[in-house]
Amino acid sequence: MNFDALFDQQLDQLREAGNYRYFADLEREAGHFPKARHHGASGGPKDVTVWCSNDYLGQGQNPMVLEAMQAALAHYGAGAGGTRNISGTTHAHVELERELADWHGKEAALLFSSGYVSNWTTLSTLGARLPNAVILSDEMNHASMIEGVRHSRAEKIIWKHNDADDLDRKLAALDPTRPKIVAFESVYSMDGDIAPIDEICDVAEKHGALTYLDEVHAVGLYGPRGGGVAEERGLMERLTVIEGTLGKAVGVMGGYIAASASLCDFIRSFASGFIFTTALPPVLAAGATASIRYLKESGAERQGQREQVAYLRRKLDLAGIPHMANESHIVPVMIGDAEKCRRLSDWLLEHHGIYVQPINYPTVPRGTERLRFTPSPFHTRAHIDALVGALSELWSQCALARVEQAA
Ligand SMILES: *Cc1c(COP(=O)(O)O)cnc(C)c1O
Repeated sequence: MNFDALFDQQLDQLREAGNYRYFADLEREAGHFPKARHHGASGGPKDVTVWCSNDYLGQGQNPMVLEAMQAALAHYGAGAGGTRNISGTTHAHVELERELADWHGKEAALLFSSGYVSNWTTLSTLGARLPNAVILSDEMNHASMIEGVRHSRAEKIIWKHNDADDLDRKLAALDPTRPKIVAFESVYSMDGDIAPIDEICDVAEKHGALTYLDEVHAVGLYGPRGGGVAEERGLMERLTVIEGTLGKAVGVMGGYIAASASLCDFIRSFASGFIFTTALPPVLAAGATASIRYLKESGAERQGQREQVAYLRRKLDLAGIPHMANESHIVPVMIGDAEKCRRLSDWLLEHHGIYVQPINYPTVPRGTERLRFTPSPFHTRAHIDALVGALSELWSQCALARVEQAA
């Protein structure tokens, strides 16, 4: 059997639909974020400004983080050397879990290889182990949650995005004695909208449901200590589980949950995706700890980011370039066509040294293809002016619709 022909056939379909993924070969340079070198198809590497990084605050180059990682590398060596259970728990992991529990005001925290793994593993274990459980999942939840729910084999009910009333109706229709899990996110990364966490907690409490909140796009960015939207809104204690990543605003890699000591012990003891895998390298744990300690103390990065986000929105408005309104740091510019989105992105990279990845189906629904900009405190006004200038030029070239400028 010619397996490659089978693979290529499906890949061709993806290309025809304009949904094939091309990776940009980048060389990040510590100290120069958001600048990077792009290794393109022709010629030598070119300087670009990165506009779609999830290293939202530039913590990936924070000297405090780098120093902690260098010290940990020299001290602990390269890898953890085992699973958490079999010789892989180093003091760096224990310290980080304490730091995370404190960050979210919880009794305990548990580390995973990534945010994806933490969602997948925790939801699948809760759904499978709580007898006759039912999981109520927001319709826009991330793939890692969807896969975890699926794997749990628990009954799944999808509720309307950010709609606490719909959730209420769906919970009310269930047998009150069944364990119920309400899974949702705070900042949704593609539209940048934020969940009504208090209303969802009200409804969940009314029906005795467990709440599971993915704060992946919020940790480090919101709240006085960067503990996320739940911290900002004074809601942390109302959530049963807060899940986050160490790979985005924290600037390193890894994932976690923060919850009660019993819940963390339960996942630690029963979750295959936690037990049977090598622990994170201590270097990563030490880097994440240093980054979180820094973010708890310093609001300057959060403030700087907010200013640049506001400035970008203002400039887009002045140029009449339509962008999605939301309360977050994510600025989606809607294109609505996969091919066009891809071409605009290529053009920006090729002619303006601006790197923004096109966001196409299946990451977002068809017809809502977009360019998604994430300004950081390290994007200057000059970077933003250059970006909006280039977009404006493209808007004219491609005869894309502009919005009326508000008076
Ligand atoms: C990126 C992401 C994850 C996965 O986190 P990683 O640490 O990158 O694996 C989980 N949830 C959401 C909403 C995400 O966007």
